[in-house]
Amino acid sequence: MNQMNCPKGHCAMEEKKVQRTVPFKGVQVNIIEDAFVCPVCKLSAGTVQSAGKIQQTIAEAYRQQTGLLTGKKIKRLRKEKGMTQAELAELSGFGVASIKRWETGAIQSQSADKTLRLHLIEGSQEDSFTGNRNFSIPRIRLVANTFEAALGRAILIANDQMLFAAKYLWYADMMAKRELGRSMTGATYANLTYGPQLNNYKDLLDDIRNADLSKVEDLTSNELSIIQRIAETFPEDRMVYDAAHKELAWLETRTGELILYTWADKLVAKIN
Ligand SMILES: [Zn+2]
Repeated sequence: MNQMNCPKGHCAMEEKKVQRTVPFKGVQVNIIEDAFVCPVCKLSAGTVQSAGKIQQTIAEAYRQQTGLLTGKKIKRLRKEKGMTQAELAELSGFGVASIKRWETGAIQSQSADKTLRLHLIEGSQEDSFTGNRNFSIPRIRLVANTFEAALGRAILIANDQMLFAAKYLWYADMMAKRELGRSMTGATYANLTYGPQLNNYKDLLDDIRNADLSKVEDLTSNELSIIQRIAETFPEDRMVYDAAHKELAWLETRTGELILYTWADKLVAKIN
């Protein structure tokens, strides 16, 4: 449809870009859309084309106005890094379906946004998210297997919620950051109601359990010592669970947010 007459009978309406404010997820989002406007009475009507694009336009504007990466920006940064969607998925620990959805209009969470920035923006590889090490799924498996040997029981269990495994890993990464200057696994942790949790653990568990250990960087003697000391301090699941719930890192971070490695210097548990 290329022409539309004003329903009030003035004349043909003109196709224009118009600005409009739309309430969306509690924010007044400013968008610009194609519309037909009557030059006499200024009445406007969306075009058929704009009706189809409007949800995506609102989602993009919302993300831009709330400081999240927009779909276009995610795509552009990914291409600038020479990555496919599958490569970004593997690097960031998200499913490729999520990457596709975010690039085409779905809105990522704040914590997902931080993780995406980490992998898409040069120089944002901050200590505070990864503990100064590149994220390594094989290393997570290696650290977890080393805990299993020290504890004399399995902690990586299929379909598990990682309630306990994640807390052992978290202490290992935090202690390594504090004592050695870098984490063991490069993992990012989130504050969930039941304690510190490996970020995106649901997507990662199978990959961790099946990770190829043939090329993984061996644990140093200092790292082995940290794992041993944590295992001796918390021989039971319940102990590591309770200790994690007394950590300021967890108590003073909001639910759903990432727990930064800057908390490594404020660990409450006495692990000798
Ligand atoms: Zn009119």
